[in-house]
This record gives sequence, C-alpha cells and structure tokens, in this order.
Amino acid sequence: MIDQLLEGNRVFVNDEFGPHESYYKAIAARQSPKVLWIGCSDSRVSEDVITGSRPGTMFVHRNVANIVAFNDVNIASILEYAVVHLKVEDIIVCGHTRCGGIAAIEDGVHENYIADWLCIATGAKEATDRIAAERKLSREQKLEVLTAENVKLQIKHLHNLALIRNRHARGVLPRIHGWLYRVETGTIEVLVEGRAAGRTKTPAKKTAARRRG
Ligand SMILES: [Zn+2]
Repeated sequence: MIDQLLEGNRVFVNDEFGPHESYYKAIAARQSPKVLWIGCSDSRVSEDVITGSRPGTMFVHRNVANIVAFNDVNIASILEYAVVHLKVEDIIVCGHTRCGGIAAIEDGVHENYIADWLCIATGAKEATDRIAAERKLSREQKLEVLTAENVKLQIKHLHNLALIRNRHARGVLPRIHGWLYRVETGTIEVLVEGRAAGRTKTPAKKTAARRRG
C-alpha cells in the first residue's frame, strides 16, 4: 500500500503538478483558500476529490463525525487561523451517509475516547429520536436524519462561538453552510444554505429615502 501511495505521488507530479506548474508555484509562495472545510475523517470523503478542487482551495479540519467542539484547542486554532488570518468567506460542515461515527451515536459506544467525543453530538441524537418516533422511521432513515441533525447542531455550535458570533454581529463573513455527501452516489446535497447570521445593516440610502417619503 505504501509503495502505491508513493507511486501515486509520482503520477501526480507528472500528470498534474508538472502541467500546471505556474499554479503550484503560486500557491507554494502563499496559500489563500476561500473556504474552511469541516468534515469527517472517513476515508471515503476526500473533500478535494469530491468537489473537484485543487490543493490550495480549502483549509481543512476533519474529525470523527464532523463535530465542532467547544473545548477543542485543535478546531479553535484552525477556526481562528482560517477566519482571522486567511479570511475565508465560507465554512462548510459536511456530513456523509454510512458514517461510522453517526452509527456509533445511534447505537451507543462505550470505548473511551470515541464515546467521550461523540457526547458532543448528544443534542442531535435527542432531536432525531423525537423525529423518528413521530415519523416511524426505519433504522436507515433514522441514521440519515441523525446525520443531518448532527450537521445542523455543529453549525449551531459554530454560530455560538464568540469568534464567529462577534463577526456576524458586525455583519462580517464567513457564511456557514451544511452539506450531506452520499457515499453511495458521490453526490452532495445542501442541507443548510450559507448565511452570515446576525444584525442586518440597513443601507444608508434606503433609510434616507424612507425618511423623505
Ligand atoms: Zn463519518
């Protein structure tokens, strides 16, 4: 497997890097991604491959079940760097079908660190249990609802972080999007349209016109 990966790099250098050397030289000098991707560590959800993006397009954080944790210095520092220094315009939280982390939230898991980590998604499980009982969902349907509810919960966590909340209060980006990637079909569905929540500034001209009227 390791030899295969190194051979893959030789193919990348010959077929991609070489023919587009000016692009790669430019990003070697300075990265300026416009997007922060928060996705699952799952090997099937390679953000650049599934979105047809070249290196340099997205700043990336991946963990089990694409969770935004309040007490995680790792994601906090990534967010700060992406938002304050790189000034990304958009953050995408992307969940996916057939997610082992989501199944573990549903089934309950007792292994140490994984169990502790998945506690952060407890709110999504509670919301999903209510929906599943009302609609009498099958296990597969329930797991899909849980995946979507988890994306929504992690977006809520992002909106609640002071770093994001203070920017949105001033009407400053980033927009936050929620996506679902289907590993069975390779397609992405938009669960939550991107928005920069907070105070909406009334354009000065319109206010003046309204006063005159
Ligand atoms: Zn996953």
